[in-house]
Amino acid sequence: MWRRHPLKERYDVVVIGAGVHGLAAAYYLSKSGVTDVAVLEQGYVGSGASGRNTAIIRANYRTPEGVPFYHESLRLYAGLSQELGFNVLFSQQGHLTLAHTDAAMKGLRERAATNTLLGVESRIIDRRELGRLVPDLDLSDRPRYPVLGALYHPPGGIIRHDAVVWGYARGADRRGVRIHPFTRVTGIRVASGQVEAVETERGTIRTGTVVNATAGWCSTLARMVGIDLPITTHPLQACVSERLKPFLDKVIVSANLHVYVNQTDRGEVVLGEEINPYTSYSNRSTLRFLENVAAHTLELFPCLHNVRLLRQWAGICDMTPDYSPIMGTVPRVRGFILDVGWGTYGFKAGPVSGKRIAELIVTGKTPDLIRPFSITRFSEDKLIGEKAAAAVSH
Ligand SMILES: Cc1cc2nc3c(=O)[nH]c(=O)nc-3n(C[C@H](O)[C@H](O)[C@H](O)COP(=O)(O)OP(=O)(O)OC[C@H]3O[C@@H](n4cnc5c(N)ncnc54)[C@H](O)[C@@H]3O)c2cc1C
Repeated sequence: MWRRHPLKERYDVVVIGAGVHGLAAAYYLSKSGVTDVAVLEQGYVGSGASGRNTAIIRANYRTPEGVPFYHESLRLYAGLSQELGFNVLFSQQGHLTLAHTDAAMKGLRERAATNTLLGVESRIIDRRELGRLVPDLDLSDRPRYPVLGALYHPPGGIIRHDAVVWGYARGADRRGVRIHPFTRVTGIRVASGQVEAVETERGTIRTGTVVNATAGWCSTLARMVGIDLPITTHPLQACVSERLKPFLDKVIVSANLHVYVNQTDRGEVVLGEEINPYTSYSNRSTLRFLENVAAHTLELFPCLHNVRLLRQWAGICDMTPDYSPIMGTVPRVRGFILDVGWGTYGFKAGPVSGKRIAELIVTGKTPDLIRPFSITRFSEDKLIGEKAAAAVSH
């Protein structure tokens, strides 16, 4: 899929992190003709959150900055198999966000209106239509929080996350990018406000441009150039059941119950919830997560009461205060570019941010689509509050 190379002493661009973001940035850079690019990865390719997520892709966000951004990513994902010549198994089966309270219904109505205005297919549906789309969902008045309605987003769905990562890695490699797994970055040298070199466990590499695409680890890399990011790292967990006959062909999310559920092509049921409430760099799973996710899933799908879970896992997420990413250049350190703050929702943004970060490097200008996500928004009081559309929904 990609070749091994000796580490060169100098590259035009060094991308740190071989997840979907770093690899997509490298791929689109090479497509624009910038091929002297190294991707440095401390573990194996895709060993971070990109190989651990539950691969939900959607564009039904809440803010006028977020919706067009994620919409472009959804469009890029829809054409990605052709773009990369590699089947990424994108199933646009439809995405449903349930409401169990009047306040939740109000929030979903607002999102439906914003989405529609900005060209994203998304509408409110009632319990009757929900029952037709998801026959096994408990729509009775028996649960603690009966379902009142939902936001239906037909183009949303799930993808094969490994395939996306491998496809970008193969595409970048074919165009001349050098991917270096097991190459941990230990320092970044800056002189007179300009990035000069990256230090790794395998030696020093000279470069004038570094992309920080390290998600859960991003604040440790930013500290190497003296920047404190407004980011904390939290574990996020998920689990998967044994295989079942097909019974669910929509992605179901309930923010009120803190749970999301979908069924894979292989028949496994994938379950997840929100971040662990404490900061940590640990990838360890917990029993608390299993108990919560099982209890909340059974409120939606009592039919799953005899189902056994096959495995559980965790990844780490770089959380910003407003649940929006941080992208672009930084004040005072030229050549240091951020593609971070991807929290629990960043896999879906891989293509668009990779493409736009590459454009920024090639043209030297910040593309309009990512300008609102600059780090300066925190000092200018221009936060982009996406929590209502991003917390559990990923
Ligand atoms: C359980 C779970 C479920 C999720 N579900 C969804 C979902 O359904 N939809 C969605 O859109 N998003 C989801 N996410 C979030 C999504 O996975 C991430 O936001 C996204 O994958 C981030 O991609 P990335 O390329 O920026 O980071 P990563 O894939 O984490 O890659 C960063 C890489 O940087 C490397 N690195 C770190 N430090 C160094 C160093 N010093 N030197 C060299 N390399 C280094 C790491 O090893 C890592 O491989 C989920 C996350 C988890 C954990």
